[in-house]
Amino acid sequence: MHTFETLPFANSFAALPPLFYSAVQSTPLADPHLISFNADVAALIGLDPAQAQHVDVASYLSGNVSLPGAQPVAALYAGHQFGHYVQQLGDGRAMLLGELDNGWELQLKGAGPTPYSRGSDGRAVLRSTIREYLCSEAMHGLDIPTTRALSIVGSPQPVYREQVETAAVLTRVSQSFVRFGSFEVYFYRGQKDALRTLADYVIARHYPDLVDAADKYPRFLREVVINTARLMAHWQAVGFAHGVMNTDNMSILGLTLDYGPFGFLDTYDPGFICNHSDETGRYAFKQQPDIGAWNLTRLAQALTPLMEIDAAKEAIAIYPSAYATHYIDLMSAKLGLQPGKEAVPLVTALLEILHKNQLDYTIFFRALCNFDSTPDALNAPLRDLFVDRAGFDAWAADYRTHLAAQRSIDAVRAAAMKRVNPKYILRNHLAEIAIRKARDEADFSEVNRLHALLRRPFDEQPELHTYAAAPPDWASRISVSCSS
Ligand code: AMP
Ligand code: MG
Repeated sequence: MHTFETLPFANSFAALPPLFYSAVQSTPLADPHLISFNADVAALIGLDPAQAQHVDVASYLSGNVSLPGAQPVAALYAGHQFGHYVQQLGDGRAMLLGELDNGWELQLKGAGPTPYSRGSDGRAVLRSTIREYLCSEAMHGLDIPTTRALSIVGSPQPVYREQVETAAVLTRVSQSFVRFGSFEVYFYRGQKDALRTLADYVIARHYPDLVDAADKYPRFLREVVINTARLMAHWQAVGFAHGVMNTDNMSILGLTLDYGPFGFLDTYDPGFICNHSDETGRYAFKQQPDIGAWNLTRLAQALTPLMEIDAAKEAIAIYPSAYATHYIDLMSAKLGLQPGKEAVPLVTALLEILHKNQLDYTIFFRALCNFDSTPDALNAPLRDLFVDRAGFDAWAADYRTHLAAQRSIDAVRAAAMKRVNPKYILRNHLAEIAIRKARDEADFSEVNRLHALLRRPFDEQPELHTYAAAPPDWASRISVSCSS
């Protein structure tokens, strides 16, 4: 296990030609203090978790003092934002410190402006930093691919958004922060060599089996298509809306990346729009799988200088079936059924009655784990959630037939279902309570409590059972926008 001073930085991205990034330096923050430290992520990257007690921990993780061996760069990228191409984005407030010899990359988010800040301050507010820190841990706990977060460092330094807030720095960890937009920028500039260099770099690090293949670029695209389809299926199955699915927020590894105005479904509403800035609902919950496809088409287009058009088309053509297969397998598991297409009508019918009866998505599925499959069992705890009880009964009869056909045993199924249907999710109001305590009282205990809770979202944690409840009325008035 390493200390901050002995982290073995390799910095392969900074070894690429300077065209891909700008060397940067962080801008010191006033009086940084450690708010939260993720011991799991420290261990994951080979940093001794006891380094949380290092005298300079807040200085290092705010960027006030550079980590020995790090070579901070801000990466260049572009992207389609809400359907329109924006030619130069890039890390405007993130800096890649470098990657460690085990492949994990460290990034500071909010450590000051970079050449890609486009007039903004390069900072992140405490509020959005807490949201990303908690949600990335929650997603990992839910077995959904995601970037991770090592720490939050806060500061009294003011940051101006709709109101005055305070600054914080998030240390993010990922195998890669390369985005679809990282490729788009060179396509639109007509820089085919750069495109190839970046593709070769990503393939060598993340898809090493393809390095020597003659058709490595179409196969690489195909891998991205499959990983993205899998991610979209996970989001839809768990009820997560990302909120800003611009191509610059789409990870080349199919990770959940760049947490902004995300939201988990409370009541099941396919039209759910978590981002109040998304006026047309482009990124509404139900749109996500299609937007995933649209974004992949932008990536495929950006890669066309490296392959025949038909090869690119063929690679993205597998998306609908890859998505459908992953999704129905995940939903079958949520129902305690074996994977396969048989459950499609059952899932469709269920989502219809959940919507019609305005049921809480997470609470319903958790309650379903205890479904009694004996003929004539009323399943009152579930049935009573519905206004339309006859509707539930009809669905339950069909469900029972599926269970019988698979010779499902209630106790066995219940245990398996509780490993895929979370009891706890990061509901907006839970994040909001933690944020208000942190902001108004400098009390970070709620951040840390939620963090610990969401690491194990499938486990009963009786002392925190109220965290599994449906949101209070005031939750519907929480407004989450792109401002962060
Ligand atoms: P996002 O939608 O948050 O992923 O950000 C879109 C683009 O805006 C990215 O290039 C960010 O780096 C940049 N950006 C967002 N907020 C800031 C900020 N406060 N300062 C500088 N750049 C920012
Ligand atoms: Mg972004």
